[in-house]
Amino acid sequence: MSNKRLKVVITDCDHPSVEIERAILSEIEPELILETCRTEEDVIAVAADADGIINQYAPITRRVIESLKRCKVIARYGVGVDNIDVEAATEYGIIVANVPDYCVDEVSTHTIALMLACARGITLLDRKIRDEKWDFSLAKPLFRTQGKTLGLFGLGRIARMVAQKALGFGLTIIAYDPYISKINGGVNLVEFSQLLSDSDFISIHVPLTVETRHSFGKNELKVMKKTAYLINTSRGPIINEKDLYIALKERWIAGAALDVMEKEPPDWNSSLLQLDNLIITPHISFYSEESYVELKIKVAESVRSVLKGELPRAMVNPQVIKRKIL
Ligand code: NAD
Repeated sequence: MSNKRLKVVITDCDHPSVEIERAILSEIEPELILETCRTEEDVIAVAADADGIINQYAPITRRVIESLKRCKVIARYGVGVDNIDVEAATEYGIIVANVPDYCVDEVSTHTIALMLACARGITLLDRKIRDEKWDFSLAKPLFRTQGKTLGLFGLGRIARMVAQKALGFGLTIIAYDPYISKINGGVNLVEFSQLLSDSDFISIHVPLTVETRHSFGKNELKVMKKTAYLINTSRGPIINEKDLYIALKERWIAGAALDVMEKEPPDWNSSLLQLDNLIITPHISFYSEESYVELKIKVAESVRSVLKGELPRAMVNPQVIKRKIL
């Protein structure tokens, strides 16, 4: 084994400091370099001889991966690895680590916050008061939440925590997830058609895939109750926004709350932004001061583990291990 000092490159990071990463990695005493890469060329220039890469948004394409001479791990700050060519990394025997669980509490709480804001007309009434209108009837009709049905589209980590929190509001909880056959704890699995027709609130918690893209379009929105709300803290393109605009404008459904959009930030003249029955937050569900710290700790721990010859706490290409063993 070579005695060469390990090199870890943080290709880009919009956090104010990387001292947490530095402290965790200090056990393996690497040269730790923080860069502000934006392009493939930027990454290739700084990471070609890195043993480990930590990455936020910079593109880790096949071309970048082919240029890496000794890299063992690419760890992404976050859950999604859309900016990393995982197939190429696997081919080259590089582990791609992510952090799938750093913000489950935050996203589930944000989902509940959006649901309650819809149910109680919070953002609409707040806007009206600033227009000097002190009139609760502007939010009519509002309905009691107790006894209503929350439908979860996808029943993974975040949806399960949403369910746990929502049970406290006396909601009946149903879920559609074709990849799960059994679930304990007050949630009933149903078909997608029943989720659409029976729910007073539908909350989306699936990954964006070819299968889930535009799962909510005209046909689905038409089947929902006129009094129902659609909440999305997952990924924007799961809803067809053109169809959502029509559904909200023509009141096929009562309203929607989105933390994610098809285009982020949206076009500022988008007609969606004119609607009173739409709540939007700027892709913030993941965030709290605590979740940031957890993310940084877990990313650095994954890189440290791999560079010590161990497995990371989470990886998206476990096939790479088989390739290494064979
Ligand atoms: P997870 O992997 O634990 O759960 C996803 C669930 O979706 C799984 O149970 C899976 O079986 C199910 N699923 C997949 N395809 C489906 C389909 N076609 N129909 C129904 N169910 C399907 O993921 P999670 O941690 O619960 O996160 C869910 C999503 O939330 C992530 O994919 C991510 O896009 C999003 N997210 C958003 C933010 C934010 O800041 N807004 C933060 C974290 C995660």
